[in-house]
Amino acid sequence: MDDAYVIPPLDVPKLAVNLGDGSGRFPIRRVYCVGRNYADHAREMGHDPDREPPFFFSKPADAVVPTGLTLPFPAMTDDLHHEIELVVAIGVSGENILQARALEHVYGYAVGLDMTRRDLQATAKKLGRPWDLAKGFDRSAPCSPVRPATVIGHPSSGAIGLRVNGSIRQDGDLAQQIWRVEEVIEHLSRFVALAPGDLIMTGTPAGVGPVAPGDVLEGRVAGVGEVSVRYEAR
Ligand code: MN
Repeated sequence: MDDAYVIPPLDVPKLAVNLGDGSGRFPIRRVYCVGRNYADHAREMGHDPDREPPFFFSKPADAVVPTGLTLPFPAMTDDLHHEIELVVAIGVSGENILQARALEHVYGYAVGLDMTRRDLQATAKKLGRPWDLAKGFDRSAPCSPVRPATVIGHPSSGAIGLRVNGSIRQDGDLAQQIWRVEEVIEHLSRFVALAPGDLIMTGTPAGVGPVAPGDVLEGRVAGVGEVSVRYEAR
């Protein structure tokens, strides 16, 4: 057969869906991330939080891993950072989406960690190089199950926070986002066509900081869910 795969075809990366009265699976196509979307985090990273247009980077779809795992500590970093984020799950395709219609493209929401090799990112920034290996490494996006908007609505305010070994490190509110979900979708969909299966990580509030081997991370967005991960001790 001429069209047979020469290596086994890849599994589709996926997240669990908590339907409330059952469960399902959300297949992951692409993962986009918004940079500096909370003013206090932009400031702590040394930037002016004025409303310059949002910017985006991405992670591979298979960087997403489910909550509750013990993960190997990532290689090639001495400064792994946590970033707790609201994740948007796209369910309806579109490009040049207007913010007034943007939420019609949202299937639901999850809670994710945009794990970052901050030392590699700092070097990349300094040298004008891409962020890919600082942001898009293996298992760099632990995520909670997706919750459908038909069940939880479209959260635009509410607590978003993270504890490390039980101590509060990040403690913000979705209302502090510089660019709301509708605006993020409007901007991003000018650059790329969005399609069912796309995830958008919408940025992190202040308080990002280092993670050490053996640490336990517990993140939460009120009304959406919780994500937890433990890193193997060295
Ligand atoms: Mn982030």
